[in-house]
Amino acid sequence: MFHVDVIVIGAGAAGLMCAGTAAAYGKSVLVLDHAEKAGKKILISGGGRCNFTNRLTTPANFISTNPHFCKSALARFSAFDFIEWVEKSGISYHEREHGQLFCDQSASQILDMLLAPCSDFGVEIALHTEIQSVEKFEHFLVKTSKGDFSAESLVVATGGLSIPKMGATPFGLKVAKSFGLNIIEAVPGLVPFTFTGNQKESLKELAGISLNVTAGNRGTAFTEAMLFTHRGLSGPAILQISSYWSPGESLSINLLPGCDIHQVLAEKCHQRPQAQLATVLSELLPKRLVQMLFEPELREVLLKQLNHRQIEQVVETLQNWQLKPNGTEGYRTAEVTVGGVDTDELSSKTMQSRKVPGLYFIGEVVDVTGHLGGFNFQWAWSSGYAAGMAIAGAE
Ligand SMILES: Cc1cc2nc3c(=O)[nH]c(=O)nc-3n(C[C@H](O)[C@H](O)[C@H](O)COP(=O)(O)OP(=O)(O)OC[C@H]3O[C@@H](n4cnc5c(N)ncnc54)[C@H](O)[C@@H]3O)c2cc1C
Repeated sequence: MFHVDVIVIGAGAAGLMCAGTAAAYGKSVLVLDHAEKAGKKILISGGGRCNFTNRLTTPANFISTNPHFCKSALARFSAFDFIEWVEKSGISYHEREHGQLFCDQSASQILDMLLAPCSDFGVEIALHTEIQSVEKFEHFLVKTSKGDFSAESLVVATGGLSIPKMGATPFGLKVAKSFGLNIIEAVPGLVPFTFTGNQKESLKELAGISLNVTAGNRGTAFTEAMLFTHRGLSGPAILQISSYWSPGESLSINLLPGCDIHQVLAEKCHQRPQAQLATVLSELLPKRLVQMLFEPELREVLLKQLNHRQIEQVVETLQNWQLKPNGTEGYRTAEVTVGGVDTDELSSKTMQSRKVPGLYFIGEVVDVTGHLGGFNFQWAWSSGYAAGMAIAGAE
């Protein structure tokens, strides 16, 4: 039987980071993946340009049952450590809004960068390999379609459940369960919302409109673009808040963030008292949206005739628009999975299981989920590095 120091299951962002790190410190490493190609999600990420990290990364950009868990790994391999590696590798990049960093050319450069130490330090990458079983005796024994392998350490880096078409599976969660580890329920995150009935029909009328909003739920809010689609709502603000949403909850949308509507209406009334409310609101928002939000009786009221109750209704509708999604588009289009292996089961310094020595979980399979903007890859790099260093005894 082929024996190595470390078997990593999953040749994605976290698995490759961990494999290269452990190998650089002298460990023999075998990476197993059922896909025909390594790093498939890296290649399609950021529209092919890979939003590989975020210059403004802090622990507050991560959702986890234990919000402190991510701190140690993020501190030991930070966004700046990754940026330094990108620069040393000669990859040119640019910054977009909110600190998001993207390759100038292609996401494949990030994959090549991760594969370089794997190749330099002799990591074996076995693709097209189905994992049949994982057990622990004296060592970990992994039975696969390509034969049986054993190792002192086993790293599970099989990612989240999003985009099954690309090879996502619940494998990592099943392994965790089989070793008696607790799981925090997994749900789709960074995902568009869907609606039914009349609400779906009226939102459909607005398909294609994009505007800057604040989308809030349960005390969390994001100010970014929102996009009306044929199925419901999408765009960065919506994807962000979806990771904080549970079925049955309503969203609060502020369609005019930072705008004092009382003051705007008072000024417009002073300048054009004969103007209709709809005319004035259509100067602030797309006309189709104004028509959808207000009944004709209110839309046609002249500014000079607006009473206090009507003004309050306008403010409430525009700045606290309540929408109750029917659901989300699910794992088919979700960018990430919220939930995963319970962080209470793992050491935050090494990602090693507290119950099963030698067993590690890294990346998206862990109950740490980044906001939109390069944070999920940063978690993959940081957690992969933490495990790789710990396995190599190079802490
Ligand atoms: C469309 C899209 C765009 C994204 N863009 C960005 C972005 O720009 N910036 C960002 O930060 N994040 C982005 N993300 C999220 C990011 O891709 C993930 O969070 C990240 O890849 C997680 O890394 P990982 O190594 O944990 O898992 P993955 O990169 O998903 O790797 C998991 C690996 O495990 C393998 N695997 C799974 N199940 C099995 C099994 N049963 N047997 C063997 N192998 C298995 C898979 O084939 C895969 O190679 C995007 C996600 C999607 C879906």
